[in-house]
Amino acid sequence: MDRKTVTLLGVPIDAVTRKQAVALILEMLEGGQIQRFFHTGGKHHVMTPNSEMLVEALKNKKFREVLNSTSLNIPDSIGLLYMAKFSGKKLPQRVTGVDTVTEVCIRLSNNHQVFLLGAGEGVAQKAAKKLQAINPKLRISGTYAGTPKDEDAPEIIRRINDARPHLLLVAYGAPAQDLWINKHLDQLASVRVAIGVGGTFDFLAGTKKRAPKIMRGLGLEWMYRLVKEPRRIGRIWRAVIVFPWMVICNRRSIS
Ligand code: UDP
Repeated sequence: MDRKTVTLLGVPIDAVTRKQAVALILEMLEGGQIQRFFHTGGKHHVMTPNSEMLVEALKNKKFREVLNSTSLNIPDSIGLLYMAKFSGKKLPQRVTGVDTVTEVCIRLSNNHQVFLLGAGEGVAQKAAKKLQAINPKLRISGTYAGTPKDEDAPEIIRRINDARPHLLLVAYGAPAQDLWINKHLDQLASVRVAIGVGGTFDFLAGTKKRAPKIMRGLGLEWMYRLVKEPRRIGRIWRAVIVFPWMVICNRRSIS
């Protein structure tokens, strides 16, 4: 089966439902030969692109290259669905990182171990406890905050290689988390799938609250986050104003 994608601002976004995304990630973890995907030394990098990330990719060439080298780019924000529709294409569903990660961890067989890297001190640990409460059979092989700085990489790599996880979840925010994965995935011997998960650990740990379901359904999560975290105004501006504008301007050239 061919990989079905919608290209927005030069970035391929997979036209998948959450169910399909979860099934694909589980298949990657089983080491199945998923020929339709790009590979990094037989390992898979999964990204959760949103509108701001695509705006960032316009000016950040390396980040754009990384977005173009992944096995799966799930459509994490409603803006991607709207702008796909505007461009005459279709993304079936918004597929958030937090829901996908939770579902993967619910369905993961106990042959696979998970490592949670990133977020504030103690947050990954709390998120791991939450995931284990949802699936008591889940095997967490480690958690570590660390930072995406180069000087921290050797210690992080040592810890992950000691813990031998198959699934690595990295929460350093974009673009840092995905640049980190792209740079170091080959050094992580046991890791089969690495996912850049943004604020997922904060949501699982309860250190940040998700917008109420009704707001999420109406595509207004950005408004909720603006009220809760006014310092995000620049990011929200890029997501809600700059992103659609760039898609409109670039419709013929690069979308
Ligand atoms: N983060 C981190 N180190 C950094 C930068 C960010 O651990 O140097 C974490 C931050 O604590 C948060 C996550 O990265 O848990 C990303 O959060 P953000 O709100 O940016 O994610 P998104 O908006 O993508 O969900």
